[in-house]
Amino acid sequence: MPDESESVVDWDSLTFSFTKTDRMYLSKCKLGGEWAVGSMMDFEDLVISPAAGVLNYGQGLFEGMKAQRASDGSIVLFRPDRNAKRAQEGALRLGMPPVPEEIFLDAVIKTVRENSRWVPPMGKGALYIRPLLMGSGPILGVAPAPEYTFLVFTSPVGPYFKGGITPTSLRVSERFHRAAPGGSGGVKAIGNYAPGMIPSKMAKKEGYSEIIYLDAVNHRYIEEVGAANFFCVKDGVISTPELTGTILPGVTRASIIELAMARGYEVREEKVDVEYAMSADECFCVGTAAVVSSIGRIQYGERVKEYYSGEVGPVTRELYENLTAIQQKRSPDEFGWIVDVE
Ligand SMILES: *Cc1c(COP(=O)(O)O)cnc(C)c1O
Repeated sequence: MPDESESVVDWDSLTFSFTKTDRMYLSKCKLGGEWAVGSMMDFEDLVISPAAGVLNYGQGLFEGMKAQRASDGSIVLFRPDRNAKRAQEGALRLGMPPVPEEIFLDAVIKTVRENSRWVPPMGKGALYIRPLLMGSGPILGVAPAPEYTFLVFTSPVGPYFKGGITPTSLRVSERFHRAAPGGSGGVKAIGNYAPGMIPSKMAKKEGYSEIIYLDAVNHRYIEEVGAANFFCVKDGVISTPELTGTILPGVTRASIIELAMARGYEVREEKVDVEYAMSADECFCVGTAAVVSSIGRIQYGERVKEYYSGEVGPVTRELYENLTAIQQKRSPDEFGWIVDVE
């Protein structure tokens, strides 16, 4: 292991990509058994049966969190209990044994502590934390695997969108959907993400940052922006798609709703018609990776709507600044969202 004092990364050129770090957490559990506290080990490849449930039937889910360097030099997490609970709900949906919250949180904290030299200086990025739960035991019939692996690894990351704070350009997809009622769109099932790769790649090739998905039934209501939740503001009222089971319940989404309400905004969780969004004053998307990202323009069919002449709107800016100030301990943690790692 390199010397602790050695500067490991050029913090100024960080992107949202994978960089291997020193240590990872791993625990195993039999179907019908109970999770025990796992162990820390050096980061390494896994040995897995070709018949593993996850490889054959996609029985797996992931989480995404960030450890950040705060203004007082400490390392902090943002609402990790929410990720623990969401992973439990996802596990139940996918027939996997849920990891108890204490074990999940202990795993995350240990992994961050043992990779602390990879946490970027404040404002340069974050240490992205990737918990993964999967059916690792062999199974041939379509059924829950006999054994499960829960692991946590990390990677230092920079901004999710290449443009950083510059508003992104999005296109509404009229051809692809992300999730359908009764499916797995409401949990972070690994299988939800591969079908979005080609649509997203196609949009990027045409100069857009991401695509906006509409609902699969009416092809009319906005669901999500790639892997981030959508918000729009019209006449000072904030709207976001209601959680109907096809939308991933983002921790950032829930936090932005609470924060905006505390700042005096009216916030509506409702069906957001794409036509309404096209007539809104500003739009933005939120997520752990995207934080709060301003949307500069949306293309829907032949029409293009530009928001604030492609500049960051005032509500987007206010919420971004309020959220990041809490996350970096530059303002008081009025909601009790911050957890100290060290
Ligand atoms: C993870 C994710 C989000 C954002 O959730 P956060 O908890 O805020 O990071 C939104 N949409 C999808 C599809 C996601 O996978």
